[in-house]
Amino acid sequence: MHAPDLTNLGKFYIRGRWVNPISANQMPVLNPATEEQVGTVSLGNRDDVNRAVTAANEAFQSYAQTSKDDRLSLLIAVKAITEKRLEDLAQAMRIEMGAPISMARSAQADAGLGHLDGFIEALEALEERLELSNGDTSVREPIGVCGLITPWNWPINQIALKVLPALATGCACVLKPSEHTPISAMVYAEILDEAGCPPGVFNLVNGTGTAVGAALSRHPDIRMISFTGSTNAGIAVSHDAAPMVKRVTLELGGKSPNLVFADCDLEERVATSVAKTMFNTGQSCDAATRLLVERNCYDQVLEIAKRTAAAVEVGNPAEEGDHIGPLFDKVQFDRVQEMIEVGIQEGATLLAGGPGKPQDHPTGWFAKPTIFADVSNDMRIAREEIFGPVLVIIPFEDEGEAIEIANDTPYGLAAYIQTGDMDRAKRVSRQLQAGAIHLNGAGMAYGSPFGGYKHSGNSREGGRMGLEDYLETKTLHGF
Ligand code: NAD
Repeated sequence: MHAPDLTNLGKFYIRGRWVNPISANQMPVLNPATEEQVGTVSLGNRDDVNRAVTAANEAFQSYAQTSKDDRLSLLIAVKAITEKRLEDLAQAMRIEMGAPISMARSAQADAGLGHLDGFIEALEALEERLELSNGDTSVREPIGVCGLITPWNWPINQIALKVLPALATGCACVLKPSEHTPISAMVYAEILDEAGCPPGVFNLVNGTGTAVGAALSRHPDIRMISFTGSTNAGIAVSHDAAPMVKRVTLELGGKSPNLVFADCDLEERVATSVAKTMFNTGQSCDAATRLLVERNCYDQVLEIAKRTAAAVEVGNPAEEGDHIGPLFDKVQFDRVQEMIEVGIQEGATLLAGGPGKPQDHPTGWFAKPTIFADVSNDMRIAREEIFGPVLVIIPFEDEGEAIEIANDTPYGLAAYIQTGDMDRAKRVSRQLQAGAIHLNGAGMAYGSPFGGYKHSGNSREGGRMGLEDYLETKTLHGF
């Protein structure tokens, strides 16, 4: 099967060239479906970061002065090359994190293109100079060099959401992708290079969070850090960045509720909800992992959910189809197994799946699509992000209790409502503390703001709002 050329995997992309790292540290890159090593990634250190930040700082001096038209032309060129390399991006994510190839193409790689459209439209609409009614002028300028830190679960989605607004606004950047998914990041750097991104405007340094990530967060010449990942790591980034009064934007974890009212099309809505929770093997920050069900349709929902989970196919990522793949590595597999055991010990009813690997998949980090029923919201399986194909079902008596349970979480990334009553949908949505509310299966759209309340983050990515974090405002008096 097709695989991207890995020539540049051990190198970093700095000042428009692939360079040998200063650090000698390395780590194997494993295919989670086969457990085989597919490559070796270099893990950078503070000197590698300094080198990249110096290059970015120098490039920023001239790139910040480019016109909006210049930057629009660059984004359009990036789009053309992204289209050309789409299959490489998809194959990279199949190999490095086990994304089944059909969804790797239609969702994981497609995000690189979808967000481009959103940012091109946003940049066209951006008013860089605004005359105020009081006679002053407000000017929007790029903030400076940005440090971009991304996770492994939606690798290109997260990279595009950060690199593209940096390029659009005139910022220079240093990207540190997840050390577990360096292949798609390498392909992305090749795309930017071929698109004619000026040397030093985009730089790539691989490495661990505690070495490269922390060095970026602490660096005095970085003005802004955009971080996506776990809440604990986001807190560490905020601490590290605080002494430099850096802008820090955080996109963090979730434990999103899905409120099922008896007045929805139960068969269709419950089946789709269960299938969506298992999508990407449950490794999505906004996965609807808590199914809250109105008591008077509870038994019926359990029956549909059980049937749907049994029909979810687990399969080889290299094969076309709508099956789910493995978890992305052994650490994640062990964590999911531990949480399944926790659910059993907490006394929840195991409705589908359970511990261990599916029978046909002794090799690879495959887990069983698992559902717990009769869960109470104070159980660990209802409070902690499991990040695997595990759904918990919690009954509620009435609308008030549903809202209370939905909001009883430290997180607030997304919430989902299934109802046939539009008045109820509007009433409930006003009371849910979440950055996005999805009604009856409506999905997210490229260009709309994405981000969370509470411990799920402090920012919004995508489209017009996604440019804001990369901009400073300068007020001109008397000009
Ligand atoms: P993670 O926090 O372990 O790592 C994310 C990134 O941060 C990686 O590049 C990692 O190397 C780096 N990192 C780790 N510790 C760091 C530190 N102390 N300083 C600087 N950088 C550090 O998360 P993960 O396991 O890669 O990703 C899964 C998590 O990401 C989940 O919690 C998920 O919900 C969250 N996520 C959130 C969104 C969103 O938009 N809200 C999107 C995708 C994933």
